[in-house]
Amino acid sequence: MKFIDTHTHLFLKQFDKDIDLVVENAIANGVSKMFLPNISSETTNSMMELCKKYPENCFPMMGVHPCDVKKESIDKELLHVKKMIEKEKFIAVGEIGLDLYWDKTTLDIQKEAFETQIKLAKKYQLPIVIHVRESFNEAIEIVEKINDECLSGVFHCFTGDVRDAKRITDLGSFYLGIGGVLTFKNSGLDNTIKEIDIAHLILETDSPYLTPAPFRGKRNESKYILNIAEKLAEVKGISLEKIAEITNKNASNLFNIS
Ligand SMILES: [Zn+2]
Repeated sequence: MKFIDTHTHLFLKQFDKDIDLVVENAIANGVSKMFLPNISSETTNSMMELCKKYPENCFPMMGVHPCDVKKESIDKELLHVKKMIEKEKFIAVGEIGLDLYWDKTTLDIQKEAFETQIKLAKKYQLPIVIHVRESFNEAIEIVEKINDECLSGVFHCFTGDVRDAKRITDLGSFYLGIGGVLTFKNSGLDNTIKEIDIAHLILETDSPYLTPAPFRGKRNESKYILNIAEKLAEVKGISLEKIAEITNKNASNLFNIS
């Protein structure tokens, strides 16, 4: 069985000491492809290096994370994103979006940076990988406004309700990224996901964060995608093989990877 981890930050410092082992363990557990969303210009080099080392397994995205949108540096960051997309091959624009948990004062510039990066994605025909935290309505309003038949993407780490999920699938070519939260007791996400067609779901770990049960508290790794897939199989009442097959197909479609 093969799995794709569609959202994993393996280039961060939490993996400095043992990154080769982490990648090898993922591959040994069937996670043959790992998609890497960028954070900011400061993480670009380590991300690109990892992807060059494992060209069959690690694939980079380009974007600036909403938590790194700062008034004094955003122009420089957006220019970096644009230049990199013009120069190198990326599978998506990400990770982009809105975060109102850490800093509400930057909402206006977060919105601007989000729109600018969606427009870049449209120009270069790339899918978008969206981060929302306490900002689902604000973010999807922007996507709904700019959406057209060419735009596609994923709301990563989906934790909303059935109405939120429907709003995403109504966009046309958008998916829900399902991660460790599905395995958390009392998250309630299992009841929502029961109602959503698996045709709209892709798997992710968001490593090193959001480690699934039974490893909560430890550093997350791409190999734990298996624990998320097992939980999804249980929630949907279908086999693990079928979960692997369908979510892989969905991810391959969205990110244009064969
Ligand atoms: Zn992320």
